[in-house]
Amino acid sequence: MKSIATLGSHSALQILKGARDEGLKTVLVSTHDRKPLYERFNLVDHYVMVDQFSEIGHKEIQEKLIELDSVLVPHGTLISSVSFDTIERLEVPFFGNKHILRWEADRNLKHKLMKLAGMKVPRIFQTSEEIDHPVIIKFPGAAGGRGYFLAKDSKDVSRKIKTMIKRDLVDEKALKDVFIQEYVFGISAYPHYFYSPILGRTELLGIDRRYESDVDGLGRIPAEQQLELMSLPTFSVVGNIPLVLRESLIQHVFEIGEGLVKAARQKVPPGMIGAFCIEGVYNQKNQFIAFEFSARIVAGTNLFINGSPYSQLYFNEPMSMGKRIAREIKIAIEQNLLDQIIT
Ligand code: AMP
Repeated sequence: MKSIATLGSHSALQILKGARDEGLKTVLVSTHDRKPLYERFNLVDHYVMVDQFSEIGHKEIQEKLIELDSVLVPHGTLISSVSFDTIERLEVPFFGNKHILRWEADRNLKHKLMKLAGMKVPRIFQTSEEIDHPVIIKFPGAAGGRGYFLAKDSKDVSRKIKTMIKRDLVDEKALKDVFIQEYVFGISAYPHYFYSPILGRTELLGIDRRYESDVDGLGRIPAEQQLELMSLPTFSVVGNIPLVLRESLIQHVFEIGEGLVKAARQKVPPGMIGAFCIEGVYNQKNQFIAFEFSARIVAGTNLFINGSPYSQLYFNEPMSMGKRIAREIKIAIEQNLLDQIIT
């Protein structure tokens, strides 16, 4: 019987539960320190133990996964712990388009694809001398916002970088790849999509906001003390909170999601498959300015293990993103269409 395999981290519980609910076998690639968490729940049929997640590229681990008839479901930890060369060489069937993960990781490629998809995107500054608007300084890798900071001009950037290094929030090596982006003021929103090649439709399955330390804690501190005590807030993700949008904003959410599906098909064949997310901010005019996308399941979907107000509109049953992935795999197996959803 086919099984769904994933790494023991990020959104694994949801993915395993979804697979179980759909009657598929489950395989967890786990490190020894993480296994006790997963053992608390009866969701795993086979553990494949590794010392480090990067070993998923090793021949014997792949052989094991293939022997267990696995489809590998990627998530954020796969991207942050395994190189793209390794991911692209994996022989185990990979749910979704593995080639688009490079576009997710490369901020310039990503920006290009988002523009092609018809989204409004923040300005990018090539050097700090060009800054003429408040900016957010980002560092490479999917570090979950760790070490990001706000600045107003080039002097401010250099001063704050020194402080960040001192506080061990950024690594000096990362400095050569800083990305300087216009800071968008407003309300952040992260819609979770699922593109089904089998049904040919883009579904909206939920929306979250991230709860980030310590920027989201600032509001609890009076302004005067903020100035005294907290000169350099950063954006390290701690958790997620659910959001529903004004109904009049939702059509646009679909348009940008479908725009990204179309742009990805054109630039990164076979295009977007399965879970993805667009990350952005609604400004004062209620325009959505998108600063990121993720071409795989995001951790914000963990909120909706029992379905969301949007998933409920498609399915008369609780439907998490993990379960939706398993459902697509199950239908594809039944209809002999698995090659349309794996790479
Ligand atoms: P990212 O890793 O790019 O998803 O960003 C981490 C966090 O930084 C986001 O969740 C936002 O809170 C914030 N952020 C990133 N880019 C921007 C931007 N251009 N304008 C406003 N906030 C941003």
